Amino acid sequence: MPRPSLSVVVPCYNEEEVLPEFQRRIIAAMDGTGMSFEIVYVNDGSRDRTLEIMLAMQAADPRVAIVNLSRNFGKEIALTAGLDHAACADAVIVIDADLQDPPEVIPDLIAGWRQGYDVAYAQRSIRHGEGFIKRSTAHAFYRVMQRLGGKVKLPQDTGDFRLMSRRSLNALLQLREQHRFMKGLFAWVGFPSIAVPYERAPRAAGTTKWNWWKLWNLSLEGITSFTVGPLKIASYLGLLVAILASIYLIQLLVRTIFFGNPVSGYPSLMAVVLFLGGVQMMMLGVIGEYLGRVFNETKGRPLYIVESHLPSA
Ligand code: UDP
Ligand code: MG
Repeated sequence: MPRPSLSVVVPCYNEEEVLPEFQRRIIAAMDGTGMSFEIVYVNDGSRDRTLEIMLAMQAADPRVAIVNLSRNFGKEIALTAGLDHAACADAVIVIDADLQDPPEVIPDLIAGWRQGYDVAYAQRSIRHGEGFIKRSTAHAFYRVMQRLGGKVKLPQDTGDFRLMSRRSLNALLQLREQHRFMKGLFAWVGFPSIAVPYERAPRAAGTTKWNWWKLWNLSLEGITSFTVGPLKIASYLGLLVAILASIYLIQLLVRTIFFGNPVSGYPSLMAVVLFLGGVQMMMLGVIGEYLGRVFNETKGRPLYIVESHLPSA
């Protein structure tokens, strides 16, 4: 068998409802490109029939590869596992199983790659099925990242859906940190990139595994793994409070010297003590976020454990 020239990596967690339809559409789209390819499905510890369906799909089509993880590791790591197991293809395509990333965009991604770009990323022009709040918080997140972010520029309205050349993939695979904010890692690697606009569809079936708490944590992940901005904010806030406190102190001294010392100010004392206590706790928390990440990285554990790997034929 000649090696496939494209590997499509699909992380899946409880996707039994949508997988057959996904397989049908991805195969149709990939066949249309006329290139040899494999589809690498990663089963991220699904608790439904996802693995069974994958096995059936592999039996029906030998171009399907399956990486079965030992438990649920989360999308970012499942994706990394898939990329690690993408047979030495010339390029890889990363796509979600829920059909929010339409497989029909893939020929455009390939066209970008053929033009000589290492990375062709799909950029959503319209987000269907996502409310105003979700859209505006996503927007705010990109703004904050950009402000704090320093040198690595995150492209807006871009998910993981993209094509990467072999050399940019090899570069990406060298980044083995535990805390994987993929959008940031993709951007960090660099290489000539091109945006391919598309319309993001609502989920075809099943439910999103995201909720507000997870989104908040993802934002924290993004910020703390790519910037030390919050630590700087801590220093400057401390400086600001110290300056304000000195001004207040001078004012108190002057008042005491020239106007005597009427004992008052219990409320202001409490306000200052409580305010400073709050600021200190919060800043300890910020330091804790970073320290926790350092702790996780120093353990040097593997990113994931593979229960079984069934390569494509
Ligand atoms: N996913 C995964 N592991 C997880 C959560 C999600 O592999 O722990 C997969 C999921 O099956 C889907 C993709 O990641 O293919 C995107 O997930 P989802 O649609 O829930 O996220 P959203 O589109 O809301 O960002
Ligand atoms: Mg989705």
